[in-house]
Amino acid sequence: MARTHLLGYPRIGAQRELKWALEAYWKSQRTDADEQALRQVGARLRQQHWQRQRDAGLDWVTVGDFAWYDTTLNLSAALGALPERFGLDPATLSLSQYFDLARGRADQPAMEMTKWFDTNYHFIVPEVNERTCCDGGVSWLLEEVAEAQALGHPVKVSLLGPVSWLWLAKCHGAAPDFDRLTLLPRVVAAYRRILQALDRQGVAWVQVDEPILTLELPPAWQAAFEPAYADLADLSAGDHGLKLMLATYFESAAGHAALAARLPVQGFHIDLVRAPQQLAAWRQVLPPEAVLSVGVIDGRNIWRTDLRKTLPVLQALHDSLGDRLWVAPSCSLLHVPVSLSGEQRLDAELRPWLAFASEKLDELQTLRRALHDGVAAVHDALSHSDAAVAARRASGRVRHPVVQQRLQRITPDMAQRRSPFGQRIAAQREALNLPLLPTTTIGSFPQTTEIRQARAAFKRGELSAMDYLQRMRTEIEHVVRQQEALGLDVLVHGEAERNDMVEYFGEQLWGYAFTEHGWVQSYGSRCVKPPILYGDVFRPEPMTVETTRYAQSLTDRPMKGMLTGPVTMLQWSFVRDDQPRETTALQLALAIRDEVQDLEKAGIQIIQIDEPAFREGLPLRRSDWAAYLDWAVQAFKISACGVGDATQIHTHMCYAEFNDILPSIAALDADVITIETSRSAMELLDGFGAFDYPNEIGPGVYDIHSPRVPTVEAMVRLLQRACEVIPCERLWVNPDCGLKTRGWPETEAALRHMVKAAEVLRLSQDVQLKLTVGNGV
Ligand code: GLN
Ligand code: ZN
Repeated sequence: MARTHLLGYPRIGAQRELKWALEAYWKSQRTDADEQALRQVGARLRQQHWQRQRDAGLDWVTVGDFAWYDTTLNLSAALGALPERFGLDPATLSLSQYFDLARGRADQPAMEMTKWFDTNYHFIVPEVNERTCCDGGVSWLLEEVAEAQALGHPVKVSLLGPVSWLWLAKCHGAAPDFDRLTLLPRVVAAYRRILQALDRQGVAWVQVDEPILTLELPPAWQAAFEPAYADLADLSAGDHGLKLMLATYFESAAGHAALAARLPVQGFHIDLVRAPQQLAAWRQVLPPEAVLSVGVIDGRNIWRTDLRKTLPVLQALHDSLGDRLWVAPSCSLLHVPVSLSGEQRLDAELRPWLAFASEKLDELQTLRRALHDGVAAVHDALSHSDAAVAARRASGRVRHPVVQQRLQRITPDMAQRRSPFGQRIAAQREALNLPLLPTTTIGSFPQTTEIRQARAAFKRGELSAMDYLQRMRTEIEHVVRQQEALGLDVLVHGEAERNDMVEYFGEQLWGYAFTEHGWVQSYGSRCVKPPILYGDVFRPEPMTVETTRYAQSLTDRPMKGMLTGPVTMLQWSFVRDDQPRETTALQLALAIRDEVQDLEKAGIQIIQIDEPAFREGLPLRRSDWAAYLDWAVQAFKISACGVGDATQIHTHMCYAEFNDILPSIAALDADVITIETSRSAMELLDGFGAFDYPNEIGPGVYDIHSPRVPTVEAMVRLLQRACEVIPCERLWVNPDCGLKTRGWPETEAALRHMVKAAEVLRLSQDVQLKLTVGNGV
């Protein structure tokens, strides 16, 4: 009998209950009663999620996927490996202290947060150095196990594995030659104590996630697995009931399958959605007694599974493995929304094509029944699946001849500006007549309550289109006047009409659908609602021309048009799985290209195409980077290159390390790139300097994520540093990202300082220029 399980369930709740409870707690006095209220919501959610798993006939409920903020932070707290700078005792860590680690305390910045592999989920990065001790900490996991057992559930625990935990850790306050791998024995000893406790609780299985087995690991890290797991071996041998399942996902782990198979564990989980081809390698090395858990339902996307196609694969495996076959979603369902059932307004044609977390459990149940009771037993469910798959394939909304033909007609010159940068910049300088070190912003201005209310009222149909237009125009005029008063050189319209930089464009393009409650946790209490890109992308009419033209009509200074780039549109949506990502990116690129050209025709001289997600699209494995960068660069260039020399193309990127992809960033050939650099005190810029970045750059001179208003001097210092690595004729002056999360008072103050800093530098640069010229003459 094949078994079914899942690697993790979304913890946020179908109505984002956890979010609201967390935010209420953070705002509260944090009394015992406040904490009780939060704890009750958490307990109720866990209970519901376990019950849902039982109702779907899973053999175990998964415990360990719940966290008040992040499961990796939970593991750090359970190991006892907390950053020393907080001075906290991991054994007695309170909920309030736990949140201090995640969100910062008056005297300590928060622990670092970064993206979980190639997902949009952010985990709290473990912080280690030679003094990190792992003497054990909170026992929340054990309490949750007891809670599930008290409800009568058979429990499988999910835990990040010790090697992946350490790999994901960052050194903090360590000696320069400190190698964090030397901590592994300590980590494993602490891990062992957790497993021992779980064993005493009678837990049958622990799913140990080692997702780094999908990466190209340095030899020392590969070699670390065997001794680490050898130290856990006796726990799952002899009389002990505890079994370990080593789980990998997001990529093929075939490269390390032989290594994994030598470890003393009792099962393996592999992702057959992302990497179906790895099955053969695993079958070859699978030890005779071991369980193979196959992830055949997409945990990363919202499409319904083609059950008819999946079944034969499972049947063949079942014939040879019997009850050693487990069936599961490919990875934790954390990355998809909770349930379709709350969607009232979803397009009726699309709905049957989709499966969120809850529907994916139904699919799992169908697969299980088909294996046990035969295909006839699930006849209805299979026919529904067949019908949905066939309808999606045949739908006229998925493929349009118009878009297909345009794709066919893409020529190489469409991804090339007419002239090289040197010629273009000369034409642009002539047309724009900007001062040295021009000042600008990244696009959005503060989104006030009134703006949000107007947008919401318009969406609800309570505000007429004309009234809404008027409200937005008033806002644009306000933003333009402010910028003029501040003395900025290149203005923006402020993006008041945009709730989200992807959704705004998605709503105007064909091929996109939107959910009401399709929330996915991004970090802590923050959720995102990615739009669903289901069909060929087509731009029926201009999207930003009216607004941008209006903004330009208010001022003599250049107005920068604002667009979201094709890679970011792709990266922040749930995208099609019936064609390569790059094809979808090209379609998006063509739509944006049309918009860029229309803006140019409307007299807009500067157009910014934002690509904040450009780097996060990188594949997990370095060997796959080149192929991605190729098509990503091509998509951007197709969107950008349809304009004349005198039209200036900007792009913007933020919050990532760019140094390792600089050649590709240069290959985008944007006339100007604005990047986030202020938090790293311009370190990033050194990379651009060393690489000899050829075009113009606006390194962010202040961090917009903080309400702090930096001094003129601080910004002057940053700009002076920038001038040391990039010739100042090629520098721009701007904040490091959009201002929409800020309030007006601090925005005004900070921009005033920024404009002043540019003036100070211009003066000193002018003097220097004159000096050089004078000396030369
Ligand atoms: N133009 C966008 C803004 O200013 C850019 C946002 C981003 O970089 N994520 O809001
Ligand atoms: Zn940004």
